[in-house]
Amino acid sequence: MTASQNAGKKVYIETFGCQMNKSDSEHMLGLLDEVGFSKTDDIKSADLMILNTCAIREGAEDKVYSYLGAWARYKQKRPGSLIAVGGCVAQDAGSQLIDRMPYVDLVFGTHNFHRLPELIEQVQDTGKPLVEIAQTLPDDLPDTPVVRLNDISAWVSIIYGCDYNCTYCIVPYVRGREKSRSIDSIVQEVSELTAINYKEVTLLGQNVTAYGHDLDPKINLGHLLRALGEIPNMGRIRFLTGHPRDLSIDIIDAVKEVPQACEYFHIPIQAGDNRTLRRMARGYNIDFYKRKVDEIRSRMPDAAITSDLIVGFPGETEEEFMNTIRLVEEIGFDACNTAAYSPRNHTPAANWPDQIPEFEKGERLRFLNAVVSEVSHKCNQRYLGTSQEILVEGKSGRSERLTGRTRTNKIVNFEGPDVLIGQLVNVSITAANPWALRGALKIEAELCH
Ligand code: SF4
Repeated sequence: MTASQNAGKKVYIETFGCQMNKSDSEHMLGLLDEVGFSKTDDIKSADLMILNTCAIREGAEDKVYSYLGAWARYKQKRPGSLIAVGGCVAQDAGSQLIDRMPYVDLVFGTHNFHRLPELIEQVQDTGKPLVEIAQTLPDDLPDTPVVRLNDISAWVSIIYGCDYNCTYCIVPYVRGREKSRSIDSIVQEVSELTAINYKEVTLLGQNVTAYGHDLDPKINLGHLLRALGEIPNMGRIRFLTGHPRDLSIDIIDAVKEVPQACEYFHIPIQAGDNRTLRRMARGYNIDFYKRKVDEIRSRMPDAAITSDLIVGFPGETEEEFMNTIRLVEEIGFDACNTAAYSPRNHTPAANWPDQIPEFEKGERLRFLNAVVSEVSHKCNQRYLGTSQEILVEGKSGRSERLTGRTRTNKIVNFEGPDVLIGQLVNVSITAANPWALRGALKIEAELCH
């Protein structure tokens, strides 16, 4: 496929789900840019519409079908335009997507999106729908071009897939086994980002804390953080999301040692009850998790710790649910992503007989959210009167205020000139609510870098 063949053509992409999917979409745009497609935010003018899907929850999958129904009308109005579906739903459903939605032109999976230009060309040449799903990633992971949608903070995928088999999770089925990128290719990518003035990178993986165990020689995320810390003018470094079992002391020490590594740990616990954790096959118990929290807080008392929690897991009793509530209060999480259990195909828990009724899951979720919000509010109040280094990301919603994040990933809104967007500034914290902080710029010209 040559770029001239597609000159002037436009691609519209919609991304559901996690940061990994958002990062994959940026790479899809990069691949398509090289063959002449430019990105549009107006679906009506698109020659190629891509839906990058997520299968983590039942609702997310339903959303795919409802979006595609609407996209069929855009396709009708723009003859010659194509619809492509990628991501986790595509990986799982494959040709069923075309059986159910015959106007879909291309279905590709999570392991072969780097072949997108060739696949599109094949559809253009034959005029026939195409399904290509690979079961594993290629041995030599190609470095794909990228069109980044944010010019301050960048996603960098460092490991793909997951070797765990949590009994509720479809990720290992659709994303395969763990496969780390080489440290050299990551350092090179991050060096290039730093050279063009990116102020923050977030290292991504379904299990980012397992980074490097499959490389020869074996390394870990701590080695990578230290190597990134050596890059001249390196900005902030974050990482998301990991498994508690793989969060080693060496990784925690590296966060403490490397000045650019942010004191922010997202460590999904999923439940605060040992029997539930065992049935989820998480591979740790509450005491183990608390030790991880102690290991972080004994080294970095002000580090933020956030988590993921599922309520209404099959067989979860009221008492077990209350253990989760007690644990949230005891640990004092800075924030939690919460969800009601959603049965997924290909997972053992989906077939267990003791499913919790929807209304009960809803009640537990509402109660948990209220507790999480109260606990987060308390955490945020600790910031009152402190001075925080904020990376300014843009404007807050439709207001004139600026918005940015602390090193600990707290959102801070404050008055200031637009020229500060993309800069590190110091802000005094003046108010705290459960979700965000308010502040006052300390000295307008006091830029940290
Ligand atoms: S560790 Fe995370 S991604 Fe892996 S199976 Fe468990 S929940 Fe899914």
